Amino acid sequence: MSVFLGIDWGGTYIKAGVVTSKGKILEKTVYSSSQLKEKSAFISEIKRLKNKFAKYNIKAVGIGAPGIIDIEKGFIYYLPNVSGWKNFPLKAILKKELKTPIFIDNDANVFALAEVRKGAGKGKSRAIFLTLGTGLGGAVIFDGKILEGKTSAAELGHVSISTDGRRCGCGGTGCIETFTGSNYLLERYRQLKKIKVAPKEVKEIFDKARLGEKEAIIIWREFSIHLGKFLAGMINIFNPQIIIIGGGISGAFNLFKPMLLKAIKGQVMWPNFKGIKLVKAELKDSGITGAALLAKEKFESKVRSSLGGHRASRYLE
Ligand SMILES: [Zn+2]
Repeated sequence: MSVFLGIDWGGTYIKAGVVTSKGKILEKTVYSSSQLKEKSAFISEIKRLKNKFAKYNIKAVGIGAPGIIDIEKGFIYYLPNVSGWKNFPLKAILKKELKTPIFIDNDANVFALAEVRKGAGKGKSRAIFLTLGTGLGGAVIFDGKILEGKTSAAELGHVSISTDGRRCGCGGTGCIETFTGSNYLLERYRQLKKIKVAPKEVKEIFDKARLGEKEAIIIWREFSIHLGKFLAGMINIFNPQIIIIGGGISGAFNLFKPMLLKAIKGQVMWPNFKGIKLVKAELKDSGITGAALLAKEKFESKVRSSLGGHRASRYLE
């Protein structure tokens, strides 16, 4: 049986798991990201994991990393929320240490891959995936594959929707994530309520809105209008069959879904919107599953292109 090691590299946790080629997690382990902050600790832990799981015969390792990566080279340009990883040839170093094929992609791309193979978007060949939290992570699945260029591409959170917007972490202004990110929602709520200190978590604004509080409802209405206008543009470009929403803010999905649909309909070119599903992400460990599936798919296509049909299928079993 072929198995793959999937690594979900988040700002708070790093999760790793051994995953079958069908996407089933056999074993997993979780670290706090601060534990593996140093490059040397990160690399030696992956090496240790590969040895620990040696009995499974790991064919390839996949990593979903939180930042901008050169996909082909597995070169990390930078990770906005993890310091010390600028311009680092991670794939080249791991390949030497592990002697196993390594594939690295952006974390949102990896989440999206898991959702279209195993989760809410199963069987769909065109999907838009958003992870809504502090920022807005995005991915596009097109023609059954992750849409990628030289870098991880589909940085949907950094599409500007305003000509005089706030400064964004990416260096631009008015990006959609400066309208939908949790810190923005908390601060906007503080202003509307005219209170000194903003609540700590967006969940408090969901709960207040469910109880009918006026200011909390305004937050979700504004959120839906901004996100809806943006999504309408994405729909006009990519013609997805499904839009999948994940991340912490998706906890409020049932609350904002009707307002979001209305906002999309008000902006989109209507034939593009016919039959599109808007759903919440389903999988719990989509980072591990998606990273492992990325490794599986890229590894298999590499083997096929180098060996050709019959010999490749024997090698891949
Ligand atoms: Zn930006």
